[in-house]
Amino acid sequence: MTSGIHGARGGGADAIPLADDEDRAALRKLARDVAERDIAPHAPRWDETEEFAEESLAALRKAELFTVTVGEEYGGMGMGDLEAAIVLEELARVDVSSAILCQLVFNGPPRAIEHLGNEDLRQRWLPQAAAGELFCIGITEPDAGSAATAMRAHLVPDGDGWRLEAYKNYVTGGHKAVACLVWCRFPGGETGTGKGIGAVVVDLSKPGVSVAGTHRKMGLRGCTEAELAFDGVRIDPADVLVAGDPADNSGLKTLLAHINHERCGNAAMCLGAAQGALEYAMAYMHERSSGRTPLKDLQGLQWKVADMGVALEGARLLLQRALVLAGRGGTPPPLESAMAKIACNLTAKQVCDEALQLLGGYGYSREYPVERAYRDVRGLCIGAGTVEIQRNFVGTALLAGRTPAGPAWKKVPS
Ligand SMILES: Cc1cc2nc3c(=O)[nH]c(=O)nc-3n(C[C@H](O)[C@H](O)[C@H](O)COP(=O)(O)OP(=O)(O)OC[C@H]3O[C@@H](n4cnc5c(N)ncnc54)[C@H](O)[C@@H]3O)c2cc1C
Repeated sequence: MTSGIHGARGGGADAIPLADDEDRAALRKLARDVAERDIAPHAPRWDETEEFAEESLAALRKAELFTVTVGEEYGGMGMGDLEAAIVLEELARVDVSSAILCQLVFNGPPRAIEHLGNEDLRQRWLPQAAAGELFCIGITEPDAGSAATAMRAHLVPDGDGWRLEAYKNYVTGGHKAVACLVWCRFPGGETGTGKGIGAVVVDLSKPGVSVAGTHRKMGLRGCTEAELAFDGVRIDPADVLVAGDPADNSGLKTLLAHINHERCGNAAMCLGAAQGALEYAMAYMHERSSGRTPLKDLQGLQWKVADMGVALEGARLLLQRALVLAGRGGTPPPLESAMAKIACNLTAKQVCDEALQLLGGYGYSREYPVERAYRDVRGLCIGAGTVEIQRNFVGTALLAGRTPAGPAWKKVPS
């Protein structure tokens, strides 16, 4: 049964769920079982050796967890962002790298194809997404990260289609994916501006695509980022997800709005990792004593746990608001998504840091899982738009008179 507090827009339809309904409870249990049984035992090895989490991929496919957000007509369960967040949180609780495999399908190119793509694209790629084939997204370039408008990726006319010239950096799962959503400039778009930016879906088995390298990282070591080169790759009109109009930045705006799914998924993974770290630390406090006093009885440490719990729940409520506002089949709104991402990123850093501290020297040891969560959430603060970029957006939006959903805000004249 679902109970709820009334959401910011006041009606029951916007209620933030305080309990899982039957379907969500079953989904959470499934994800938690897979996480604890099939993923947790291997996660330290993937982290240590930096090998791709293949067993995780196989377990997630077997449990059909990749189907969650894919439409029913394409072989999926047709669920929304709330359900996606449940799975991502549960997986990230034991291993963020494994959660990212689902994030790539739930909130990556397949969701964009479903919402923005033509029927050919949907028929071609969505059944593969539901079956657990991986997809990746290529936005970042060596000289264009936060400033996506500086991208060099572009299309050159070629008969009834184009040739793609691009070099994309930091593409999560790029060396394992079947297709990449590549953001690029359409012919006539002005370099250094948003004009003409759109996106195409590239089959990564096509001639001209190559994996130029992979990154060695601090965390998230079970899910590698690749550099992908696209040298004159043929793009047909049917491969276009969002056409770039050389006269304006409408294509870029559409793509950026859709990234809110990814931002919310990123936030959910932060919550999961932090939840796992906090629970591990609390269990440790029950077992470990300092002299004759159990750690759990030391008030200074109880206060830490209190602060961690409050921060985590506050961030979770912000994320829930964005997810509830998305509804089923919609997209989380930009201001609420950016606020949620900032809160979840910063809270996860703080909670994982304090959890590590609560374990003392053992927290710093790689034999315990908390330091891995600490390293993993660090990367999530950079991916899907850095904390600073989210702050830029939130600050300018508030000062321009935009208010987040909720009755408390008075419009400041702009
Ligand atoms: C784990 C991980 C996974 C990723 N996966 C993908 C992926 O799948 N696909 C993809 O395309 N990219 C991916 N990225 C890349 C990521 O999106 C970029 O790293 C990010 O957008 C920042 O770009 P940058 O690294 O070029 O940093 P820069 O843009 O050079 O920024 C450097 C620093 O300056 C700050 N900064 C930049 N501009 C401003 C500003 N205007 N105001 C205030 N501060 C600013 C940034 O916040 C940052 O702290 C991933 C990154 C990580 C770490």
